[in-house]
Amino acid sequence: MTTLLLHNATVIDGTGADPKPRTSVLVENGLIQKVGPADNTAPPSSVRVIDLDGHTLMPGLTDAHVHFGQVGINAVANRSPEDNLTTYVIQVVENIELALGEGFTTVRDAGGLDPAFARAVEQGLIKGPRVLPSGSHLSMTGGHGDRRGRYDEAPIRSVPGILAAPVLVDGPDQVRSAARQQLRLGSFHVKLMASGGIMSPLDELESVQFTVEEMQAAVYEAQMAGKYVIAHCHTSPSINNALAAGVRSIEHGSILDEATAKSIVEQEAFMVPTLLVAEFLARAADAGEVPHYGQMKLKQVRSAMPVSVEVAAHAGVSMGSGSDILGARQTGRGEELLLKAKVVGPMNAIVSATRTNARLFRMEDRIGSVKGGMEADLIVVAGDPISDIGLLANADNIRLVIKGGQICKEII
Ligand SMILES: [Zn+2]
Repeated sequence: MTTLLLHNATVIDGTGADPKPRTSVLVENGLIQKVGPADNTAPPSSVRVIDLDGHTLMPGLTDAHVHFGQVGINAVANRSPEDNLTTYVIQVVENIELALGEGFTTVRDAGGLDPAFARAVEQGLIKGPRVLPSGSHLSMTGGHGDRRGRYDEAPIRSVPGILAAPVLVDGPDQVRSAARQQLRLGSFHVKLMASGGIMSPLDELESVQFTVEEMQAAVYEAQMAGKYVIAHCHTSPSINNALAAGVRSIEHGSILDEATAKSIVEQEAFMVPTLLVAEFLARAADAGEVPHYGQMKLKQVRSAMPVSVEVAAHAGVSMGSGSDILGARQTGRGEELLLKAKVVGPMNAIVSATRTNARLFRMEDRIGSVKGGMEADLIVVAGDPISDIGLLANADNIRLVIKGGQICKEII
């Protein structure tokens, strides 16, 4: 592996500290060896020097809520086994590759992606970010993961190793068994659907899904495996249920009251707002792609979510960053930071998508900040994302992507 000297950049280190101009970063053996003031001493000829004057160097971005395996917007996994699985696999691989090109070096899949894809990335077979997969998410009958029509009997089936369809389970025993099965297949955490959602045909947003006892069974199994539970929750009652069961990561938190925000802080849980998906679905609705049942729910979420981010920020909630975008050819993932910045400012949006997500992933000793000893997951941005956070929403501005010390993209 080549030793790299990333010379004379402005460094945003992911901790929220002020950007440091004229700084150089030495990358060796996949790790950040040194961060210090740029000087003009010539390094040994074996070191490759990349001059970054006028550029910003920052930690690789992370996304705590992706759905690489959801290549359509109307279905949880979008493909039944009868469909063409070759096309499906190609579309999933494309989604994974696009994320890396946009500067995302670690992501957490929030359901639908078979963990086999994460292993293929690890083996170098797919050029993508590190993927922490959920596998199938668990939903109660009639819950957000139940996408059957009212009179359909058969749910979509998984294709082990390729497609992780939602699992419908009722009662603590079934939840326990399904959680064990997902952990066995390689999920990094267990995903539960704890409230209604926009794109499910037969539930209301306000419906509270799973009992505390059911969720506790999943939390116990995840904890015994050294892992944790993430739960889809749009409303405060569903968040309170999830917290009571010991869920660590609250996804969306779209309609959040102050008391519930305080409870998230007290439980040392995290919230991952997903502002971009509401905009994404609004655009899809304009194009006639969102069914009638989703449109009212979308309106509700879209207007409430920025307010909830403010409530959470005010209460001191640890807020991760997740885009939740769906479909084939997923691009513009970084727009999540732009939307977040409108509420909490650009630096806080960046910290959400770097160090806070790293804490959420329990990887803060390895990724999420630029300092000696960390893995060299770094990106270089043309310009200053603090004065124009929108730079991060367009892959053309991401000039260099380094993952684990390897250059994955270079257009300097
Ligand atoms: Zn999601």
